[in-house]
Amino acid sequence: MGSVTILEHTTKNPIRMIGEMAGVCWGSATDNDEANITRALNCIKSNHGRTLEFPDVYMVLDGYSARVIREWYTHIGGAPTRLQSSTRYVNAKNFAYITPPSVAQNPAAKTIYEDCMEQIRSAYAKLMEAGIPKEDCALALPLGMETRIVCKHNLRNLMDMSRQRMCSRAYHEYRKLFLDVCNALRAYSPEWETLVNMLFHAKCEETKTCPEERGCGRYPKKDN
Ligand SMILES: Cc1cc2nc3c(=O)[nH]c(=O)nc-3n(C[C@H](O)[C@H](O)[C@H](O)COP(=O)(O)OP(=O)(O)OC[C@H]3O[C@@H](n4cnc5c(N)ncnc54)[C@H](O)[C@@H]3O)c2cc1C
Repeated sequence: MGSVTILEHTTKNPIRMIGEMAGVCWGSATDNDEANITRALNCIKSNHGRTLEFPDVYMVLDGYSARVIREWYTHIGGAPTRLQSSTRYVNAKNFAYITPPSVAQNPAAKTIYEDCMEQIRSAYAKLMEAGIPKEDCALALPLGMETRIVCKHNLRNLMDMSRQRMCSRAYHEYRKLFLDVCNALRAYSPEWETLVNMLFHAKCEETKTCPEERGCGRYPKKDN
């Protein structure tokens, strides 16, 4: 069961911050909260994308699969950064793993899957006993293994990510992870709640058409 923890280094009042930054370039007074909020919302609605690059989110993602975290790393706009739990220093002999619903709901598949994980645990332990360094034993570990990262992303990067990963075509664990991010941000501060509700949604919600080859049917295909 994955969890998202928003760290205190995260910008607390991202809307006011955007308004303050935009105010500098407009030569406006930036010491008025109400004016900053109005200016920020105007910038956001006008798609002035650079303004979204000022607020940063620092978070810990814990208990999601190595597979979904590999997908998380594909979103590179704005140079996000992260550190990941080490397979060189951390002993993974009792690694926890994700069981997807398709497997969990199928008793025969569940047995095969769990046996496979047990075999990997056992092989890892035997390699360790044979004196193989952890960093090399780690090559036998599965993509379903749970991992932990700490990362930093700006608002623009997360908004772009939402457009891809709140899409029904995205992998179900990513959709769940992204929903957890949305909820953790909503709980972090009222301004984040406003931004998540305003900006984080699948790409089809912007155009009311679907660019995916095999869409879910929510909106008509883009080509039609
Ligand atoms: C349904 C689905 C299936 C997928 N299948 C695969 C797969 O089989 N294999 C695979 O490898 N990946 C796959 N992906 C991942 C996908 O190919 C992208 O890597 C991922 O969506 C991140 O790319 P992005 O353009 O959204 O990037 P982001 O990093 O989120 O960037 C957002 C925007 O920022 C700008 N930007 C970012 N980086 C640059 C840059 N370097 N230069 C200029 N502009 C930049 C671009 O305008 C870009 O659109 C899949 C994704 C989805 C949603």
